[in-house]
Amino acid sequence: MSVKVRFAPSPTGKLHVGNVRTALVNWMFAKGQGGSFVLRIDDTDLARSTPEFEQGIEDDLTWLGLVWDERYNQSKRFDRYHDAAERLKAAGRLYPAWDTSEELDRRRKVQLSRGLPPIYDRAALALTDAEKAAFEAEGRKPHWRFKLDGRRTAWEDLSRGHAEVDTASMSDPVLIREDGLYLYTLPSVVDDIDMGITHVIRGEDHTTNTGAQIEIFEALIAAGLGTTVPNFAHMPLLVGADGAALSKRLGSLSVADMRDQGYEPIAITSHLGRIGTSDPLEVAESSSGSGAGVQLRQDGPVAGAL
Ligand code: GLU
Repeated sequence: MSVKVRFAPSPTGKLHVGNVRTALVNWMFAKGQGGSFVLRIDDTDLARSTPEFEQGIEDDLTWLGLVWDERYNQSKRFDRYHDAAERLKAAGRLYPAWDTSEELDRRRKVQLSRGLPPIYDRAALALTDAEKAAFEAEGRKPHWRFKLDGRRTAWEDLSRGHAEVDTASMSDPVLIREDGLYLYTLPSVVDDIDMGITHVIRGEDHTTNTGAQIEIFEALIAAGLGTTVPNFAHMPLLVGADGAALSKRLGSLSVADMRDQGYEPIAITSHLGRIGTSDPLEVAESSSGSGAGVQLRQDGPVAGAL
């Protein structure tokens, strides 16, 4: 099997060191095995994505030497997502719901006050045809939810080891908003199938998504799209040397800013490549001396086969 991985940033902001580490691990994993590295621009959110951020991502990756073999924009692939959505609808796995956010909020509060988990109660599945027709007649558009299996979905994570997500404890995810916008969950699965991605390597913050996405992979395979679920690896997120989440300091750790401060690309990639390994970490300094010295570590021990 020839290895194929993807790095899938949203062009809604600048690349920061956390993103770059994900890109770097993907790139090293693929290149170490003669595989290929795909750059996928996750720009389904047309309102928040900008050409400037997209260009910035390409410039940063090129400057760092993380050159891609193939490149795609999700915004050019809506017909593929539509085809997948129709297959899921036909299989009864994608269902329309008209609940407003106020209704959902109220029901969540009632669940919490009864000591129940605040998950979607699937009220939309109990609607009669007449009730659905009445919503349509009012001109209201539905959003579309994926019907989870409600089971323990398990996989052998190449970073974390055996992993499980109980999808019975999750709300059926909304895949399509009422304005027709595809949220990240379905397009990512369709792309991983269409592009032949063998390994999905991403941050630990996506672990719960993976439970739902594995069920979507399986539902699409059963509906004739794709053949295999890829392997997954979820990496611990980067934190500052003080253990604080990186997000609070993103501004000062964007790749563009580090370039401006005089860091060499090799200093950044070799530093990020060592975090989470047993190799010694030296603090990177900018050549201009203006950088404060970047100190990072990963939020957890080293593990797994990656
Ligand atoms: N656009 C997603 C993100 O930046 C991609 C996640 C993934 O790798 O599947 O979080």
